[in-house]
Amino acid sequence: MKMGSKWRLVAIATLVLAALTLVACGGDDDDENGDEAAVEVEQFPANTTMGKIQEAGEIRIGVKFDVPPFGFNNPQTGEVEGFDVDLGRYIAERLGVEPVFREATSDNRIPLLVDGTIDLILSTMTITEERDLEVDFSEPYYVANGDILVPEGSDIEGIDDLNGQRVCTALGSTYQETIKKEAPDADLRLIDRYSECLELIQTGAIDAISTDDVILTGMVVEDETLEILGIEYTTEPYGAGVPEGDTEFKQFVDATIAEFIDDGTWQERYDEWVGQYIPEEQRQGPPDITLKEALKLFPLE
Ligand code: GLU
Repeated sequence: MKMGSKWRLVAIATLVLAALTLVACGGDDDDENGDEAAVEVEQFPANTTMGKIQEAGEIRIGVKFDVPPFGFNNPQTGEVEGFDVDLGRYIAERLGVEPVFREATSDNRIPLLVDGTIDLILSTMTITEERDLEVDFSEPYYVANGDILVPEGSDIEGIDDLNGQRVCTALGSTYQETIKKEAPDADLRLIDRYSECLELIQTGAIDAISTDDVILTGMVVEDETLEILGIEYTTEPYGAGVPEGDTEFKQFVDATIAEFIDDGTWQERYDEWVGQYIPEEQRQGPPDITLKEALKLFPLE
């Protein structure tokens, strides 16, 4: 069913925007949400997910807490920050509600959505056919690539070299299966949080970490003695996860992501969280892959 397009300007959106800008920027530049003075907020029917979120006055969003460029619970500011967090704030603003960020790891993000603890997943989550059985995905909002992180001077040069080595990745991530397939003799260490992989490589307890390049970039920013191989061995389009079968909410999230891209916010947020840390020729623009195409990259086995 299509929503009636009864748009109205809600004064409170201006206040929410102002509050969010303060929270998100911590005094930095303050035009990250675009130049608008206020955002048009549509009032949704009470029986839709959007209407229920508006009634609650908040949207609960599952993000990573330890992946600095996308979702990071910054101990210095006490705020959660990153690209996924900014997209979450943008979506909340379009509903005229407060975003509440909950930690969602690779392994528990889908259960948290399915049991209703969170309303939306924005947690560096690759679109896969298997996950699509349990949640619905938005159109892709980011495309990461699989890569490998090693200590400087390591002999590991590619995926085959992971055989016989101690390799860390997150439980429940796409890499759990990919590494088993591509390097079956790797000694795989599956952990809950990527920050644990970082600690293990720093103490020499593992030889390599494999996951999305953006997550690895965050680790190199923290520790320059580590290096990314730059082999881009998988393509990992990220989707927002919404409850299975909630077509109206998916359409709302898709439309909001399209707006996030079209009004330039995507590029601005990308440059801030990822672009500034990588060479210019490797920087990217918004994804040009569709959900349908993304699903084919990780088909059901
Ligand atoms: N994007 C990959 C995945 O969804 C790796 C990052 C993560 O574990 O969240 O599995």
